[in-house]
Amino acid sequence: MNILGLDEIGDVAGKRVLVRVDLNVPMADGKIGDRTRIHAVAPTITELSDAGAKVILLAHFGRPKGERNDTMSLRPIAEAMAEEIGRKVAFAEDCVGEAAASAVADMDNGAVLLLENTRFHGGEEKNDADFADALAKNGDLYVNDAFSAAHRAHGSTEGLAHRLPAFAGRSMESELAALTKALGEPKRPVMAVVGGAKVSTKIALLENLVTKVDALVVGGGMANTFLHAMGIDVGHSLKEADQAETARRIMSAAEKSGCAIMLPHDAMVAEKFEAGAEATHVGTDEGVDHDKMILDVGPRTVEAINNEMNHCATLVWNGPLGAFEIPPFDKATVACARHAAMRTKAGLLSVAGGGDTVAALVHAGVANEFSYLSTAGGAFLEWLEGKPLPGVEALKR
Ligand code: AMP
Repeated sequence: MNILGLDEIGDVAGKRVLVRVDLNVPMADGKIGDRTRIHAVAPTITELSDAGAKVILLAHFGRPKGERNDTMSLRPIAEAMAEEIGRKVAFAEDCVGEAAASAVADMDNGAVLLLENTRFHGGEEKNDADFADALAKNGDLYVNDAFSAAHRAHGSTEGLAHRLPAFAGRSMESELAALTKALGEPKRPVMAVVGGAKVSTKIALLENLVTKVDALVVGGGMANTFLHAMGIDVGHSLKEADQAETARRIMSAAEKSGCAIMLPHDAMVAEKFEAGAEATHVGTDEGVDHDKMILDVGPRTVEAINNEMNHCATLVWNGPLGAFEIPPFDKATVACARHAAMRTKAGLLSVAGGGDTVAALVHAGVANEFSYLSTAGGAFLEWLEGKPLPGVEALKR
C-alpha cells in the first residue's frame, strides 16, 4: 500500500513521536465503559516507549465543536491508559501552545504524555494549516494509529502527516492489512452480507460491493425495500418506498457485474416490534399480511446463506440480518454468525465491522472468532463504499 509502519520508523530513541490514537470511549459520569479502543492502541505506545521515544498522544473526545468543555476532557483517560500499559501517563491541559510545549519539554526518553482533546480547537476539524503547524511543533515524527478516525481530514489525522515523517501504528497496520485482504486483493469467491435497517444509509456501500463481490446477501430491514421493489407485499414491515428505484438500480448493476444478489426467500414476521412478540414463518413470495412485519430472515434463507459461505474464501459482513436486539428475531444473525465463525476455523477469511455489527457478533458469542472485527464505525463503512480515507491517503508516500 506504500505506507511505512513501525518496522520502518528507524531509531526513535529521544525523538518526540506524535501518535494519533482513538480514545473516544463510551463514558458516563466520568466513568469509562468499554475499553476496547484503549486496549487497541496500547501495543504501538509500549513499542515506541520501549524503544526510548517520547510518546505524545493526540486524540479527540466527543464533539466540543472547537471550544474547551470540561465534560469532554481526556484527563480521565490518562489514568485508564496508564493502567492499560502499566506505566505512567502524564497529561497536558492543551494539545498546542505553552501547556503542551512545557509538558513535552519535561519528558524523559520512553515517557508517555497525553495531550488534551484536539477538538477543543476549531482548527482541528477545519484542518487549519496554522493549527496543524502548532501541533507539529511538538513532534519529530508522526504515527497514526487511529483507523477509526481516518475518514476525517482533520489536523491531527491528516494535516500532521504532511508536516512530519509519517508512519502507520500497529493497530492501523492490522486494520489496513485485513481490509486489503478482504476487498483489495481477495481470494475468491467473495461474499458480502449486508443487513441493517435502511437502504438509504447504505446506497454507496451496496453500489460499491456489487462491483467487487461474487455474492451479496441483503438482509435486515433493507431487504424489505428490495422485496417491495420487486412487487412483493411486505405488509407493514419497515421499508423505504422512495428507495425502490435505488434497489432496482443496485440489482441491475449487480447483474451487469456478475454479482448474485441473495434476498430472503422466507422471513419471521410478527405484529409488533417487541421482545417475545409471537413470530410466524412466511415464504416471501406469498407476501406478508397487512398487520404483520418482517423482523428477521427465515430458516431457509439462513440455510442458503450458510451454503453460500461454504463455497466462499472471503466474507465481508456489515449489519444484522434481523432485529437482533429483540429475541427471537436474533436467530438468523446468530446462526449465520456462528456458521461464519466455524468456517473461519476451516480457512474462510471473515472481516466484519461497522456500528451494530460488533454488538450483533458479541451477542452471537463469536466476536473473537472472525478473522478480523473492525471497531471503526464510520471509517469501516466508508472503506466499504470504496472511498479513499484521508487519514490513510496522507500516510501514502
Ligand atoms: P444499521 O444501523 O443500519 O446497521 O441497522 C441496525 C438496526 O437494524 C438494528 O437495530 C436492527 O434491529 C434493525 N433491523 C434489522 N432488521 C430489521 C427488520 N427486519 N425490521 C426492522 N429493523 C430491523
